[in-house]
Amino acid sequence: MDEKALRRAAELALEFRRGLADRPVGAQTDRASLHATLGGPLPQAGTDATEVIEQLAAAADPGLIGMPGPRYFGFVIGGSLPASVGADWLTSAWDQNAGIFAAGPAASVVEEVAAAWLLELLDLPTTASVGFVTGAQMANFTCLASARHAVLARAGWNVEANGLTGAPEVTVVIGEEAHATILTALGYLGLGRERNMRIPADEQGRMRVDQLEAALERVDGPLIVCLQAGNVNTGAFDDAVRAMEAVRRHPNAWIHVDGAFGLWARVSAHFAPVAAGLESADSWAVDGHKWLNVPYDSGYAIVADPAAHVAALAPAAGAYIQYAAVERDPFNFVPEYSRRARGFATYAAIRELGREGIAAMIERCCTLASRMADRLRAVEGIEILNDVVLNQALVRFRPSAGGNIDAHTRDIVSRIQADGTAWLGATTWHGMAAMRISVSNWSTSEANADRAVDIILRCAADA
Ligand SMILES: *Cc1c(COP(=O)(O)O)cnc(C)c1O
Repeated sequence: MDEKALRRAAELALEFRRGLADRPVGAQTDRASLHATLGGPLPQAGTDATEVIEQLAAAADPGLIGMPGPRYFGFVIGGSLPASVGADWLTSAWDQNAGIFAAGPAASVVEEVAAAWLLELLDLPTTASVGFVTGAQMANFTCLASARHAVLARAGWNVEANGLTGAPEVTVVIGEEAHATILTALGYLGLGRERNMRIPADEQGRMRVDQLEAALERVDGPLIVCLQAGNVNTGAFDDAVRAMEAVRRHPNAWIHVDGAFGLWARVSAHFAPVAAGLESADSWAVDGHKWLNVPYDSGYAIVADPAAHVAALAPAAGAYIQYAAVERDPFNFVPEYSRRARGFATYAAIRELGREGIAAMIERCCTLASRMADRLRAVEGIEILNDVVLNQALVRFRPSAGGNIDAHTRDIVSRIQADGTAWLGATTWHGMAAMRISVSNWSTSEANADRAVDIILRCAADA
């Protein structure tokens, strides 16, 4: 066995991670240059494994983003905890098929253990089932597939067997600010990206519950309502307690919560009140690779009714499969058949920090987001557009000499990205250009946050 290639890969990985504190956060190259170094004709003969690893690392490096580093504030990204990265390496080395217990007993059991820990951390019903998926996109899909199953089964229709053709109409209600992945999931499920009732949002991006209440008066029959815990721009939460009270008046309703990052607020005693009441929903989508700081390829589809979850997701029978008697066959809870043993990385992240460490990380991120927003707000011409209730802030820059605020704001974001000390992205919020700040990395310290604000202010002064 050639151990050399794997040792070299580990060294190169460590070099990259050691460099994260200092390397430019953004990409240092473009598509054409990456094609020049990575491209070429299909290899006819093989190459020594160590050489493949070294060349790959060298060629990819300029196109790598300092995303797991401490000054990446774009999107809602999260970092990757050391134990979690290590467990992810082992997952590749062990190369287990986590589809069925018979193909990966440790992979199956670690999912059972991590699932129970996740439910306790997030304060969700301990009887809920958890599918380990690629991210919140597939978590939303999996949860909504379970919802589709349950509301149609109650209406006397077996959607897995018979499809949607001829099925009773399902009313889907979403907020105007629902994440794009909810729409995509509804499209995959045949419920339609546009065939839904859209409830207007308020100035923070929260569903207008008064409008939900009015809309529900016109609804009859199978109903799926999607709530949001953590708006991707503002961090705001829908008023779940009041929304659920209205939805529960319907006898055949399912409430789904997209809590990709926001659901983690429930781990912190300080921030849990913003996410109050969500434990009474029917399903929850949450990411591991965002705020839990598990490396990419980690999300959780959590369903209060395991029977609905399995009925919707368990694969069609295969004669050659060795099904578990009492053990967990992980493929019953996810859209895939064969797959990576994702549970190990989640297990390691939770063990590394423990409940107290996770709560502290969540609170630190929120405190730093507020600190950054406060410093920026104090400067003439800089405005914070949202109530900073969690880890997200929206910033707008007004040119001192007058002129176009949108263009000025976008110019400053470009300057910050070109500088490379920190990475922040742009968005449009209620028709206004804005810079987004998302703090969701375990390694972001106060010094990193301050250094980022210094650069933001310098770029703003130069613009
Ligand atoms: C990030 C996000 C998603 C999508 O999650 P992925 O992990 O990228 O699939 C869905 N909903 C919300 C609210 C998000 O923030």
